[in-house]
Amino acid sequence: MAKRPEARNSELFRKLPSIDELMRTPDFARIVEREGRAATLDAARTVLDRLRAEITSGRLNDSNVNLALSGIGDAVERELRRSLQMSLRPVINATGVVLHTNLGRAPLSSAALDHAREVATTYSNLEFDIRSGERGKRDVHADRLFSRLLNDHAADVSTVVVNNNAAAVLLALNTLAEGGEVVVSRGELVEIGGSFRIPDVMTKSGATLCEVGTTNRTRLADYEHAITDQTRLILRVHRSNFQIVGFTEQPSLAELVELAHRRGLPILEDLGSGALFDLRNLGVTGEPGVGDSLRAGVDVVTYSGDKLLGGPQAGILSGKPGLIARIRSNPLFRALRVDKLIYAALESTLLSYVRQDHDSIPALRMMRLTAAEVGDRAGRIAQQLRPPMKAEIIDGQSVIGGGAAPGATLPTRLLALTCEGLSAEELSSRLRANDPPIVARLEEGRVLLDFRTVFPDQDGAVLIALTKLPDQRNTA
Ligand SMILES: *Cc1c(COP(=O)(O)O)cnc(C)c1O
Repeated sequence: MAKRPEARNSELFRKLPSIDELMRTPDFARIVEREGRAATLDAARTVLDRLRAEITSGRLNDSNVNLALSGIGDAVERELRRSLQMSLRPVINATGVVLHTNLGRAPLSSAALDHAREVATTYSNLEFDIRSGERGKRDVHADRLFSRLLNDHAADVSTVVVNNNAAAVLLALNTLAEGGEVVVSRGELVEIGGSFRIPDVMTKSGATLCEVGTTNRTRLADYEHAITDQTRLILRVHRSNFQIVGFTEQPSLAELVELAHRRGLPILEDLGSGALFDLRNLGVTGEPGVGDSLRAGVDVVTYSGDKLLGGPQAGILSGKPGLIARIRSNPLFRALRVDKLIYAALESTLLSYVRQDHDSIPALRMMRLTAAEVGDRAGRIAQQLRPPMKAEIIDGQSVIGGGAAPGATLPTRLLALTCEGLSAEELSSRLRANDPPIVARLEEGRVLLDFRTVFPDQDGAVLIALTKLPDQRNTA
């Protein structure tokens, strides 16, 4: 008795075509031509395995097996689309966090991407001096423009570029302080997201951390007392993701520079975000620019390419030519260097700064939008929404993020959404399920969309997604 379903199943199994039979049909020949034999084979195997599992579980039986068999071609096509889809794909950032590390930080300008495409899809003079016909250095492509941008602040500045700012800090510490001590305030022993911890980077650099002061207060004298003949460097770190408020004290950069130089030591500042654009123009204070630090006499500053600078991922070291040359000749540089795509995107981004064309850099353009401009776009979308969706325009704050001053926010206007019968969590999860996914803020039972970080040509896609949402609820 117990054998009967198995006997029936083996009959069903025999109805399934073999992989070879399948691949010989004209439909499959066309698929193979388009997607390649290996991927098509994989997809066909997956579909056949699935059908076998459905027969075993009884979901596929005499009454529906023929239908399933006639749909094999379509099923393989669907499986191919699923398996060959890109994993890395665009999302719509409606969080209002301009430099969102999880969403890829600064979006590149189209000019930067065009230059990267132009340079990287053919050969280039990456390390070739066209005039002499001899070997050149990749550094020149960025150094030239950094010098031009920073020369107003410090007479003589050199710049080298590595993979990211974590690499820049590691390289600077290793070059300037390996085997010696580095004096740092306890209030600056920061951890940046993604496990960048100053004490750990210090250990890996071969330098010894010499902590001074307390979490909330460090005086100039604390630094002074800590300096010994083992000291190689004074390090200052920008508190890029937290604030120390209340009973606090910290020597000014100028005082620290004076102390370091009086004792014959270089001073390194990890700026993190490193603005080339004066954020005071946007009403944001307390975010030191690269130029400010160099003008104060800091010997080497490190900062990211894809934070406030608005370019590609990179770590940038700018400072005194002698020290930068030592950093450049460290063998670690070779391991941390960046490729032509990055130089191309960075060079183009820097050129926008030289031209003072800040609006061509997407992150800067977004930061420069007024609350009214953002609110107008949100309002136009709100007007077109119908029950059960309910929308309201409210005041709020956009966050600069990405290691800018932790309190660095910009006034904005938000689209506050609720949908009858759907929780805010459900609403935001449906927005994420949209293609392209829409990432919004969840606050106090509402979904908040900040159009500051939505590109204007994405507004239409957001509207369509919001209009479709309630229907999805009915079919769910
Ligand atoms: C962001 C940041 C880093 C790390 O920079 P990456 O470019 O992400 O490697 C290091 N230090 C500070 C102060 C930062 O803000």
